[in-house]
Amino acid sequence: MSKIFSIKRDLLALLGFVMMGVGMLCVGTLAMNSVKDTHLMHDGESEARRWTNELARSIDTVTVGAEKAFLDDKFFVEQASSFSRVFAFDVFNKHGKLFYSTGPSDWNLTITSHELLGSPVTRYHTSLGQTTTKLHANDESGRALQYASVIIPFKDAKGYLGSIVAFVEQTDHALSLSTSFNIIAGTTGTMLLIAFGIFSYIVLRKTRERLKAEERIHYLSGHDDLTSLPNRKSFDEQLGHALAARTQDTQHLAAIVIDVDRFKEINDAMGLNAGDSVLRHIAELLKSNTRDGDFAARIGSDQFALTLSSLKRPEQAAVYVATLSEALSAPFWINGEQLVCTVSIGGAIVPGDANDATVLMRHANLALGRAKADGGNTFKFFEQGMDTAFIRRRDCESDLRRAIDSDQFELHYQPQVDIKTEMISGYEALIRWNHPRDGLVSPGFFIPLAEETEMIIPIGKWVLRQACKDAVSWPVPLKISVNLSPLQFKPGNIVELVKGILDETGLEPMRLELEITESLLISSTGQVVEDLEGLRDLGVSIAMDDFGTGYSSLSYISSFPFNKIKIDKSFVRSMTRDSAILGIVKCIIAMGRSLGVAITAEGVETPEECEILKSLGCNQIQGFLYGRPMSISKCLEQMAPRTPINPQITSAATKSGIVA
Ligand code: C2E
Ligand code: MG
Ligand code: MG
Repeated sequence: MSKIFSIKRDLLALLGFVMMGVGMLCVGTLAMNSVKDTHLMHDGESEARRWTNELARSIDTVTVGAEKAFLDDKFFVEQASSFSRVFAFDVFNKHGKLFYSTGPSDWNLTITSHELLGSPVTRYHTSLGQTTTKLHANDESGRALQYASVIIPFKDAKGYLGSIVAFVEQTDHALSLSTSFNIIAGTTGTMLLIAFGIFSYIVLRKTRERLKAEERIHYLSGHDDLTSLPNRKSFDEQLGHALAARTQDTQHLAAIVIDVDRFKEINDAMGLNAGDSVLRHIAELLKSNTRDGDFAARIGSDQFALTLSSLKRPEQAAVYVATLSEALSAPFWINGEQLVCTVSIGGAIVPGDANDATVLMRHANLALGRAKADGGNTFKFFEQGMDTAFIRRRDCESDLRRAIDSDQFELHYQPQVDIKTEMISGYEALIRWNHPRDGLVSPGFFIPLAEETEMIIPIGKWVLRQACKDAVSWPVPLKISVNLSPLQFKPGNIVELVKGILDETGLEPMRLELEITESLLISSTGQVVEDLEGLRDLGVSIAMDDFGTGYSSLSYISSFPFNKIKIDKSFVRSMTRDSAILGIVKCIIAMGRSLGVAITAEGVETPEECEILKSLGCNQIQGFLYGRPMSISKCLEQMAPRTPINPQITSAATKSGIVA
């Protein structure tokens, strides 16, 4: 459409240009003709004057001015015709009567008495024979093709005697003038046309560039540059229109929100270009799966949205979303690598879930949140209870903000046992939230929320200080393990923070072990490895926690020399039932041995698991088998000199003790 407008615009501009050019040529020609006429007029006049002067010098009778003299003096007539370009003349007496003419009577000039009598001697009146621009047909009388007729009064001492009308030959002069002027007009016209053409071309080009830029700005304001899909602004407008266009309550309209699962990890592990390709791939699938009347947009970094209008039944939305989800989760290729990228989808429907766009989108997002909370790669439609869950989460967020100052956190400690000696070698500090209303809240619930809101930074600092303080008070100098969130590395002062707390509490650095997860290294810049080296230089040890649950494990192990690797409890849980998992556990332990890194298995609950791990060469175990996380008082009881560790399940634990 805009192309048609642009062509029309260009044609109009071209037409304008041609018309201006023609106009300029006409004006130029008229100006040239006017100059030519004026020039011929002056030429005729000066030639006639010259002729008269010559005449006056050579023939005395002119000054005498007797009528008779003209008639009788043949010599005068011959003389008068012999010089200059005057080819004929008429003589009028002082009463305006023609009494002598050298030309035939039919082309005698009609001259008014006013012109003859009214003119003073010094003033010459010139009139041109017809027009100088139009050549007269040559006639037999010898009249020139182009001439000027000039009235010249003459007088003597007594006064006005009469007038001579001189006919001045101008044919050659007019022709050469015409030729010169035509050349000048042609050259000037062409040059003007070229100059005007260049000027018009530049103006036209600049205008077109500006219009193009304006069109692009307008397009970008409503579109996403990466995927070419409409953006959030366009989506909101479109949703508003679609809702307004609903005429009956039987017409259903769904708003669908799509979020790419673990998109950050894809970006971090495969690079930003691969991340962009994933987004483009999803956008293409959305475009090709959009039905007539539906609208797809990219509304956030890894979020897309759809409107599904004119649904006859709400269930149609679920059927459509199921198909879409399947299409989006199909494997595809990026840079020669096959990738499976799943999405979480949330939806809400009008009428039923909402009546306006804001509530509809809020409910679709709540449903998306539920799909994400369920582990992703699924879709959920809004249900009434979701609102309450959202409100609960929001309340929890504000409660969490108050928790530090209100002293609601406490640390529990879980023993870590040397597998060979069955002696406790250290404890892991695990945070608990003693909520005034809800009682003890598990970190699995509030740590993700604290990370999302970055409240984990002050919370983590509290944990570190409290754990070090507690460890200093222990009767036996056991190791204390503290979990660090990747976000605690964000401010860039983690080394100073740990050093400060060690100095403040007086805990020996070698007693502190910091547990980090793979996600820290996935999003790592050189700065993270530098910080880890800085921490190790302080004398603290670094453990890789939950090993095997991240996106791409093995490569990160080589990026930093860890002191310990902790096999995630999900592997320990499944290894007795699944030989493939057992194979992975074997592999991790063998790798640890070859790298000289100690291996701790987490979540050990049964003697059978313990025996397997022992036979594989695992160094340390942690789990309910040797003790659940316990309060500091229980922990101190367990550590009291000569008090054996209370066996939890097996006789193996009866042999356990404490090793410093
Ligand atoms: P984690 O660091 O891997 O801690 C071990 C988790 O496994 C603890 O859960 C512990 O109670 C649980 N566990 C230990 N042995 C067994 C077992 O035999 N069976 C089962 N089923 N579970 C066992 P918890 O205390 O709920 O902590 C969960 C996660 O929360 C921790 O996993 C850690 O990632 C995080 N977390 C806990 N405290 C902190 C903290 O102070 N800071 C940070 N950043 N994260 C923390
Ligand atoms: Mg841990
Ligand atoms: Mg762990």
